[in-house]
Amino acid sequence: MADKSFFIDTTRCTACRGCQIACKQWNQLPATKTKNWGSHQNPDDLSFVTYKLVRFSEVVSDGELRWYFFPDQCRHCIVPPCKETAEALGYKKAIIQDKTTGAVVFDKKVKVKSKDFKDIKESCPFNIPRYDPKEMAMAKCTMCIDRISNGLLPACVKACPTGTMNFGDRDKMLALANKRLKEIKAEYPKAQLLNADDIRVIFLVIDDSEKYHKFAKAEGGIGITRVMALNKLFRPMVNVLRSKG
Ligand code: SF4
Ligand code: SF4
Ligand code: SF4
Repeated sequence: MADKSFFIDTTRCTACRGCQIACKQWNQLPATKTKNWGSHQNPDDLSFVTYKLVRFSEVVSDGELRWYFFPDQCRHCIVPPCKETAEALGYKKAIIQDKTTGAVVFDKKVKVKSKDFKDIKESCPFNIPRYDPKEMAMAKCTMCIDRISNGLLPACVKACPTGTMNFGDRDKMLALANKRLKEIKAEYPKAQLLNADDIRVIFLVIDDSEKYHKFAKAEGGIGITRVMALNKLFRPMVNVLRSKG
């Protein structure tokens, strides 16, 4: 199996939330009790039991009132900062990256301290990791590794009726994304692919990314955090001490 990616064409999304429900069903995640908080977005955020969330934004752009829909999930970064940070903090097995597909998967069985989780979450430029303090466990989208390893599409892709959600070999998804971008660029000059070179979930949007969601795009690229920097700085010293001890 080859390196995989998603292509999420938000221009086709109707916010039906089929992907969100399919994710819950496949992963056997419980429903979340919600209340009206003034938006059709429901629930209001990702959580330990909500890996996929269709975000709604009502914006005025170029003098028009528009609704933008953003089916949010983990981006399965090519070099995942969450994994680097977890390893720097001593959690060698909490986050694994599947060598074949590139899926980044959290192991819920690994107990993580709350203060360490804060650093792991902060390292994610897309604000994805979530935590259950009772379980001391982290959770997020798994790329449906159990489905794709058996030749099935991720549940959210399978459920999408509009062609918004696409999944396949990375080179094919990049080609599809670039073709679609070219098609709509004349009508929407601000159209762009978000961080396409650095992540495995490639979003196409037609406006400034922050109009969709504050964390839609990693503005400075996939960066290095304080914990990662300290790790890089002190790792050689620790290795020397270990080799002597
Ligand atoms: Fe959008 Fe497809 Fe999800 Fe419906 S299933 S909300 S069209 S991405
Ligand atoms: Fe990790 Fe965040 Fe990248 Fe997902 S999006 S792999 S949680 S850093
Ligand atoms: Fe949920 Fe699977 Fe889609 Fe990830 S790939 S958002 S786990 S359905």
